[in-house]
Amino acid sequence: MAVQITGIDPKSHAERAGLKSGDTLISINGHEIEDVLDYMFYAAENSTVIVYEREGEQHKTRIRKSEYDDLGMQFESFLMDRKRSCSNNCIFCFIDQMPPGMRETLYFKDDDARLSFLQGNYVTLTNLTDRDVQRIIDMRLNINVSVHTTNPELRCKMMHNRFAGDKLRYIKMIADSGLMLNCQIVCCPGYNDGDELRRTLNDLYSLMPHIQSVAIVPVGVTKFREGLPHLDIFDSKGAGEVIDIIGEVQEKCLAEFGTKMAFAADEFYLTAGRPLPEGEFYEDYPQYENGVGLCRSLIDEVHSAIEMAEYDGGKRKVTIACGTAVAPVQRSLAEDIMAAFPDVTVQVVPILNRFFGETITVTGLITAGDLIDQLKPLDLGDELLISKAMLKADEPIFLDDKHIDDVISALNVKVTPVANDGFEYLDAVLGIEW
Ligand code: SF4
Repeated sequence: MAVQITGIDPKSHAERAGLKSGDTLISINGHEIEDVLDYMFYAAENSTVIVYEREGEQHKTRIRKSEYDDLGMQFESFLMDRKRSCSNNCIFCFIDQMPPGMRETLYFKDDDARLSFLQGNYVTLTNLTDRDVQRIIDMRLNINVSVHTTNPELRCKMMHNRFAGDKLRYIKMIADSGLMLNCQIVCCPGYNDGDELRRTLNDLYSLMPHIQSVAIVPVGVTKFREGLPHLDIFDSKGAGEVIDIIGEVQEKCLAEFGTKMAFAADEFYLTAGRPLPEGEFYEDYPQYENGVGLCRSLIDEVHSAIEMAEYDGGKRKVTIACGTAVAPVQRSLAEDIMAAFPDVTVQVVPILNRFFGETITVTGLITAGDLIDQLKPLDLGDELLISKAMLKADEPIFLDDKHIDDVISALNVKVTPVANDGFEYLDAVLGIEW
């Protein structure tokens, strides 16, 4: 497969070698280029022979450069290929539980191993072939895998894919090659919790030290499940049991390998009503992106920030809007801040998720509509702080497609999105702008 070059960076190696936008890249060092992984892998060498096509004729040029120096070619899409969608129909899929009419990109079910390497996405391995897995191994690419269960029949059932069980062998193949895997388990009560979770964690433990980390996250169940199998959410007893089962493997893994390997998402502790573990429990926070240790990290950072901050801004009142699950953590932080800065009042308002259903309790899935409806009757003070997780990464747009300006004008208050960073959080509460 050849790939069209859509741009050449000025003063780049490619420009100096005479390549032009519109040329077609055929091969690098004799390897056909199918996608961005081939390009990154083969273009990393310090001597590259590029074969390209221009106006129907093939040309060859050699580029000498430092290893890993970019050649400077641009392509139509980041992957240089179509994004791969998943071949599953998981009973817990959040996309299947979204209301109709949301922006189209939110409905795309990606399951692309290349995005695992490039962006840290988790993939199920179900749409890979033996050749794809061999390529991952040959390129020495560490991968993030949505395991869910290591019971083959249960995996087929949970993912509604008759090949999902067989594809588990890729996990072993990758681990046996010496590569590292990060894993994720979406835990569904009555399916892959209890002894099934114990079995999965022990199977992953048997692959140590090639399992870097495992996040166990609770299933999210919205009110839009018509036609889908019934799914329960965790109650406090079930959440506590999950923490205890994970604790069994953590203990033996720590003794043998010096790492706990598996970690429960914060939601389990909040649902179980158990204290959050201390910072050192999370080692170097390997599963932060999966919601493991976010609360602890925020608490510790806010406490450090309080120690270092000075405030002489006078009376100030802010409102923090958050998901219902994390409200106790936010309230406790608010009390600590108010004790340290008596002129500052912090009001925490847990927002019920009426858009997806009240069983959805995380902050990142709160919409502008719910913020407006529930905050309108309140005195919000000088500023409303929301989490950046409620917004698109590149635009201040909420999941219900409303802009942050819609919230500002509806509530008539300054609205500031804040990252999950304790220093930024305290600055926002105190109104310190950098
Ligand atoms: S792999 Fe499962 S959960 Fe992920 S997008 Fe596909 S169906 Fe949904």
